[in-house]
Amino acid sequence: MTRAPHGGPGRISGDGAVVARAPAKVNVHLAVAPLGHDGYHELRTVFLAVSLFDTVTVRPAGELTIDVTGPFAGGRTGPDRVPTDRRNLVWQAAELLADRAGVPAAAAITIDKSIPAAAGLAGGSADAAAALVALDTLWGTHATRGELADLAARLGSDVPFSLLGGVALGSGRGERLSPVLARRPWHWVLGIAGSGLSTPAVYGELDRLRADGRLPSGEELPSPDPVVAALHGGPVDALAAALHNDLQEPAIALRPQLRRALDAATAAGAAGALVSGSGPTVAALAADEDDAVALAAELAGTGQFRTVRAVHGPVPGARLVG
Ligand code: ATP
Repeated sequence: MTRAPHGGPGRISGDGAVVARAPAKVNVHLAVAPLGHDGYHELRTVFLAVSLFDTVTVRPAGELTIDVTGPFAGGRTGPDRVPTDRRNLVWQAAELLADRAGVPAAAAITIDKSIPAAAGLAGGSADAAAALVALDTLWGTHATRGELADLAARLGSDVPFSLLGGVALGSGRGERLSPVLARRPWHWVLGIAGSGLSTPAVYGELDRLRADGRLPSGEELPSPDPVVAALHGGPVDALAAALHNDLQEPAIALRPQLRRALDAATAAGAAGALVSGSGPTVAALAADEDDAVALAAELAGTGQFRTVRAVHGPVPGARLVG
């Protein structure tokens, strides 16, 4: 592997720890094609990285271990528990990088979760992207950003965007990215409505609703152009009007409370609101930062949300901290 532009020995602290963080994402446009013969759906999406970050700390160790801490670690047991074994995307990221670089996959990894799991915010993908960046420095594997992007695409379709950050148009399964320009920050309130929703279950519900004729077939994908043009720097109402998510109706069908949560966002004065990815997070668009703070306070009082956070985006993708 060749020399890295994003890391170096200077980032390793006294106890040998390397720290990286990566952002959550909101899909401000998500168009889903009909189920393909390969069992996957082609996507046309616009990703926006927002200022809610998971932090991954890696230390030298004789074997690979993962510990999960923070407000969304999900407890030690129960359905929301974030796995600490091979099922964790960070574990898979470590094995993949080690294998590619020909080094032992050994590190003590701590994931500090501020991004709720299974919330449609790509928290697991953010962790995997941050782990790639941190371990590359810890192990001195010196991957280029392009090499890390190749590994990211093998880990999951949202991982390349977690690495890149900013705003990007995604195609394929979301892993083929073209950066998009946003000339101003956009302010949002993320409202997490209830416990996690399974992404495969939401896609399955979309297929069922389409087969029953209750939703359009998806043969003609809506264009991302309006949302790309609005993100570029237009008025907030233009972006609000352009927001689109084909997974919103199936997510509502599985979790009817989401309809009330979206209505609560609009009633509280959001310029627009949509379900983020496969849900159950609602992303409510605010006019500016002050408006986002007021909207967050209002939404926290509605009783519709487990957690409410004011964020802004675009922000950069996975980066070393410190
Ligand atoms: P996706 O579309 O990938 O399902 P999401 O944002 O809805 O995205 P994630 O937070 O990425 O969901 O988690 C989805 C599932 O992946 C979780 O239920 C969990 O079991 C598993 N998972 C694996 N690694 C992680 C991780 N580091 N953090 C959170 N969940 C993880």
